[in-house]
Amino acid sequence: MPLNASLASELKAVLGSDGFCDSQEDLRSFAYDLYASHKPDAVALPKTTEEAAAVLRLCNMHHIPVYPRGSGTSLAGCPVPVLGGVVLCSSRMNKIQEISVTDRLAVVQAGCVTGNLQKAAAEYGLMYPPNPTSCLYSTIGGNVATNAGGASGAKYGVTRDYLLGLTAILPDGTIARLGNRCQKDVTGFDLTRLICGSEGMLAFISEVTVKLVPLPESIRTALAYFSSATEAGAVVTDLVSRRILPCTLELMDHTFLETVAEVYGVPCPPGTGAALLIEVDGPDATLDAQMGTIQEVCTQHHAIGFQRAHTEEERETLWKARRGGTAALVRKADMLVTLDYAVPISSLPRALQAMEELASKHNCNVVTIAHAADGNLHPMVLYSPGDPVQAAAYNAFADASVRAILELGGTISGEHGIGLEKKQYMPLQLGDEQMRIMRGICRIFDPYGIMNPGKLEQ
Ligand SMILES: Cc1cc2nc3c(=O)[nH]c(=O)nc-3n(C[C@H](O)[C@H](O)[C@H](O)COP(=O)(O)OP(=O)(O)OC[C@H]3O[C@@H](n4cnc5c(N)ncnc54)[C@H](O)[C@@H]3O)c2cc1C
Repeated sequence: MPLNASLASELKAVLGSDGFCDSQEDLRSFAYDLYASHKPDAVALPKTTEEAAAVLRLCNMHHIPVYPRGSGTSLAGCPVPVLGGVVLCSSRMNKIQEISVTDRLAVVQAGCVTGNLQKAAAEYGLMYPPNPTSCLYSTIGGNVATNAGGASGAKYGVTRDYLLGLTAILPDGTIARLGNRCQKDVTGFDLTRLICGSEGMLAFISEVTVKLVPLPESIRTALAYFSSATEAGAVVTDLVSRRILPCTLELMDHTFLETVAEVYGVPCPPGTGAALLIEVDGPDATLDAQMGTIQEVCTQHHAIGFQRAHTEEERETLWKARRGGTAALVRKADMLVTLDYAVPISSLPRALQAMEELASKHNCNVVTIAHAADGNLHPMVLYSPGDPVQAAAYNAFADASVRAILELGGTISGEHGIGLEKKQYMPLQLGDEQMRIMRGICRIFDPYGIMNPGKLEQ
């Protein structure tokens, strides 16, 4: 449904003609993420905090839904404008405003692509550690709104651990500066972290201040092959209990590796059921010994192959399987849904086994990868939504896997967020009291319910 004409012309006046779109092609481009799609009525592309604030003020006055959006790489339907309204996209707010070596921080606009910040920080010998696999495309604002994690989460933590401050625009257009440039700060409630992970339901984030850390001196990479995912999972728990903390410990199952081999020609040893991509970083002199211990642990767990990278080129080859895997899988089915669960680390082998058993019980094509060192697993379901039997199998697997994860003391989302995909399951994990508090917080920030509506079970 088109926006009412007076609101559309007020928005155009604020944003200029290149900052406002409502052609059918544009609406289609901002309709979807990798899980769902629904066309908005208009798209606003502000360049500044003030322009974004004006958009929110106008939409709030007209009680029009607003859907904050970064790059739309969400895998759970988080930014999808299910009730139409206006998509408020940060893509033109993409500047790195400051990197301070002495304060060890960066100030960036919300639409800055995370990989660009990582590259810029590295030029100063610094690192922004949160490292979602989507970092070449996703934005800092989207990462903050979903509290994104990634491959290095177990060692370095997730987005919220690096968040010092942000500029939040409230639904009525008020510009609130939360947090500051201090590395430590305990004054008042932590509203910065409340916004972090709120999936665009409380405020639009226009600017972010993040902590940086010194770049590690060196890194070592290896790929270990096992006959089963459960065996690879056991290596993870063994390494953790020996107090070895790799910066990368990515588990890939048999079908994932097979697909990569097929599409990119990256072979693995016969009999491979799973592989672990392992990296350790830190002072150069310590790393060979750490990698030696890791190789020993893998051997004790019957590794059928262990390949080390000796050059940056070899490292890239080892990473090729992990990086290219999702793109390779997408070609194999009409739909790929990447589920996202986390369990206590000691429960990872049982969680992996449960996913295998449920996939076989429901006759569902499931491929599993995991950021294993923090117990975060991604069963990926390949199916055709147009085929009723396959669609029913997907639904049955998704439902049963959520319940199995909760029984293991896990969480229904480790990093991707709840969005549309898991909203009906959130009360199951959090219970009535937490849901009541969250709805109350939404009402305080957003009395007319215009921010990303349709995503929280009422
Ligand atoms: C191949 C691939 C790999 C991925 N790997 C990882 C991974 O390793 N770890 C991980 O955590 N995620 C991963 N993701 C998921 C996704 O990239 C993250 O959720 C990411 O943080 C989304 O950022 P975005 O800029 O694309 O946000 P979008 O997808 O546009 O939006 C995500 C959510 O954030 C809100 N939002 C966006 N910008 C703002 C803003 N400025 N203010 C307020 N709210 C906002 C939206 O409303 C929505 O609810 C992956 C996705 C893909 C496709």
